[in-house]
Amino acid sequence: MIFEGKESAVTDWHVLNKESVLEHLKVEANSGLSDAAVERRREEYGVNELRETGGRGPWVILWDQLRGAMILLLIVAALVSAYLEEYTDAVVILAIVILNALLGFVQEFRAEKAMEALKKLAVPRVRVRREGQIQEVSAKELVPGDVVLLEVGNQIPADCRLLESPNLKVQEAALTGESEAVEKTTDCFSDPDLPLGDRANCVFMGTVVTYGHGVGVVTETGMQTQLGKIASSLQAVEAEPTPLQRRLAQLGRTLAIVALGIVIIVFLMGLLKGVDAKLMLMTSLSLAVAVVPEGLPAVATVALALGARRMFKRNALIRKLPAVETLGSVTVICSDKTGTLTQNRMTVTALDVVGHRIDLPELLRHGHPMATINEDEGVNDVRKHVSESSSLSLVLTGAALCNDAELVFESDRQHIHAVGDPTEGAMVLAAAQLQLPADKLNHVLPRIDELPFDSERKRMTTIHEWHRSGEEDHPESMLHVLDHLQEFSPGNIAFTKGAVDSLLEVCNRVWDGNEEHELTQDWQNRIEDANQNLASQGMRILGVACRTVPSSEHGFEPASIENDLMFVGLIAMIDPARPEVREAVSRCRQAGIRPLMITGDHPLTAQSIAETLQITEAGGRVVSGAEIENLTDAELETTVKNVSVFARVAPKHKLRLVRALQENGEIVAMTGDGVNDAPALKQAHIGVAMGITGTDVAKESSQMVLIDDNFATIVNAVEEGRMVYDNVRKFVKYTMTSNAGEIWVMVLGPVLGMPLPLLPLQILWVNLVTDGLPGLALSVEQAEHNIMQRPPNPPDQPILGRAMGWDIAWIGLLMGIVSLVLGYWVWSNGNETDLEMSRMRTLVFTVLTLSQMGNALAVRSDRETLFQLGVFSNPVLLGSVALTFGLQMAVVYWPPLQEIFKTTSLSGMELVMCLALSTVVFWAIELQKLLRRSQR
Ligand code: ADP
Ligand code: MG
Repeated sequence: MIFEGKESAVTDWHVLNKESVLEHLKVEANSGLSDAAVERRREEYGVNELRETGGRGPWVILWDQLRGAMILLLIVAALVSAYLEEYTDAVVILAIVILNALLGFVQEFRAEKAMEALKKLAVPRVRVRREGQIQEVSAKELVPGDVVLLEVGNQIPADCRLLESPNLKVQEAALTGESEAVEKTTDCFSDPDLPLGDRANCVFMGTVVTYGHGVGVVTETGMQTQLGKIASSLQAVEAEPTPLQRRLAQLGRTLAIVALGIVIIVFLMGLLKGVDAKLMLMTSLSLAVAVVPEGLPAVATVALALGARRMFKRNALIRKLPAVETLGSVTVICSDKTGTLTQNRMTVTALDVVGHRIDLPELLRHGHPMATINEDEGVNDVRKHVSESSSLSLVLTGAALCNDAELVFESDRQHIHAVGDPTEGAMVLAAAQLQLPADKLNHVLPRIDELPFDSERKRMTTIHEWHRSGEEDHPESMLHVLDHLQEFSPGNIAFTKGAVDSLLEVCNRVWDGNEEHELTQDWQNRIEDANQNLASQGMRILGVACRTVPSSEHGFEPASIENDLMFVGLIAMIDPARPEVREAVSRCRQAGIRPLMITGDHPLTAQSIAETLQITEAGGRVVSGAEIENLTDAELETTVKNVSVFARVAPKHKLRLVRALQENGEIVAMTGDGVNDAPALKQAHIGVAMGITGTDVAKESSQMVLIDDNFATIVNAVEEGRMVYDNVRKFVKYTMTSNAGEIWVMVLGPVLGMPLPLLPLQILWVNLVTDGLPGLALSVEQAEHNIMQRPPNPPDQPILGRAMGWDIAWIGLLMGIVSLVLGYWVWSNGNETDLEMSRMRTLVFTVLTLSQMGNALAVRSDRETLFQLGVFSNPVLLGSVALTFGLQMAVVYWPPLQEIFKTTSLSGMELVMCLALSTVVFWAIELQKLLRRSQR
């Protein structure tokens, strides 16, 4: 059975019926493709991805390195020296060009690779039927003929013809521009030229399921899809520079102009002093090369990309690079409760019906084997209760049937667990443990239709036929209620479960265990009391209700089914707080970040958990979605200043909350998982999607995905973000002070009457070795101890602020003076022979290089001394300092290099003096730290 390319040329899939589509694609709807068929088709059709021209290949990166302004300068310098017939110089300059480019290349290549790896991880996963089983694969691996399962929040991974589509609605704006979701069907159409938007039995790559679920068979993948056909227009998108990159580029340009100005002054001063014009030209060019901070934007790219990689190791997947730096400025984290602050491991703890409240035995809350459970007296008591009480058994039946979670029996059949939504999983599991297993219930009451849960209604309804066979297995009392319902209005049976307040709105009757009552205010109060009682213990509570639906009714709408319901009872479950969140919350506080809880759950439940986690103090105010509804924007802005818990919130309120916070000048991170959260995620400075429970849509709208759904991960990411920013600043400070030192040497020397203190190649060497190696190492500097004990970085804070400006000025000056001391002494006491000149320059050269190493060690922190940081805590930096020292010794003592760099061997005494002098800069910086601290 070979899949023929020719046959797949069909594009009018919408006119074919399901059977012929499957036949064309040579696939069985129930079993899907075989692995072998998938393999063959992948070879034929390739990977399911839109070809992108985004990433940079190694050659492009290398070229980008080579065309930098500094490299141009170096090449000019090489040409000039070649023209001056200084061939050694020309060769060495070229070598330096290449070394410099390589250093930059290695850095950026690593960064690019890191980003690529992260991008790959961001590809959505899809559930497909293959080899008769449901598997989860990366969307990239799909081939034509794959049978895919679609559900709310999925991004359609390829073009598909639908095979099943109960209630499926798809938002196709990405393709057709139509923002209203389109209702899908499986019927076939007759017009082959139907516009895409009307091909309601097909779904297209890049569009989004907003309601219901469905099954489709993949017809086209990758560039063959409708999206692929228009994708050429998408390919032009270039990655925008992040604010940090832009600001560094700006800073680099300003500094370059200043530096060039100074270089011109040095040049003119040299000419006035009568230095040979050619030598002066070379010197100036070299100095220009050394002090123009051309690498600044690249530093940011590398720091950001490596930061993103470190964040990934701590479970935060960065989707947009700017998020890395914005994270460092976050002032408010708005977090979902369920799953983010709590474990999302729900267990049913209590059932509450009229006249009964049953707390489930502890035994059921943990995964004990069935045998143990079956033998337990407490459990059997409860089981007896349940089977005798029509209300209890009906609550459990409703909860188990109006449910999409599935029970899984482990191989020993002793342990069961549930897969799917944890809230629903807890309910099927409890029902099964109390002898109402969903599979058996479904036998008698098979589902024929459904109204899926959404976080606006906070309810879900399923409709069931009633097969009156196999009933023996079920509690008589429960069947009695169904009989009772049928008596009044025969038909199918609908079960609705949902948030108690929202459920009561659509109930008008209540079942008291024996008979039906009108839902009077009295009854309502009793139910709400029970609800609040449980909620204030931090439990999540769902109500269950039911009714009959005339069998003739079609085209279900929530409004027509979810009314006139008979309330049955409550199910309460606990979802313990994540243990690590409490600490994360207190870290937030210390770091000047305010954590906010935003949840769809009941206010009392929210408050209880918020208190446990110390997001709010006891009795702290909780504002509900309904209250938000009644607040004007201005009032909401005031409210968000001191309220930290928002409950019964619908996604649309999240958007208003983000806006209100932003109006107050906060930098907002906001979590979300559902389709409806997308606008709020996009609006927030950092949209954070859930990796486990999040929909593709939420992930697509987010800047960061929490792989473990954990609040603590956001806080860790903030820490990494601050670190990236710190490290970029340290790098800037380090290079700027070093460059300032070089400039001072070249300016002060002639002012003091000295001959040129450094030769062109020496300047280039200082620049290559000192800026290059330790600069690299600063990018792996660890976070400082207090990184989470200071306020967030103001987002508009200049990189080179006033304090740093002063530091650069005085440290640079000191470095210049210190470097000149020995040289000046030699020059003023000696004669101007070549040897003496060479000795003078070697001294200046060596002290300058070594001073910069001291600077590199001291620059690691603005506040803590090297000894507090730990001398060995950045081994890479220590290594590069040692390496630089070794290289410097080679340049000074190894004859071939002496030849090139015009150096002379220093005596032991001279070397010791060099070493001693070059630590002056280090001690001065450390002293400044101590002084600064004692001032505070
Ligand atoms: P959260 O912010 O805690 O994730 P959700 O929006 O998921 O809140 O849920 C809000 C409320 O909707 C819950 O308190 C619960 O009462 C109800 N609910 C949650 N899941 C379901 C479900 N699967 N079926 C019916 N109701 C649900
Ligand atoms: Mg939820």
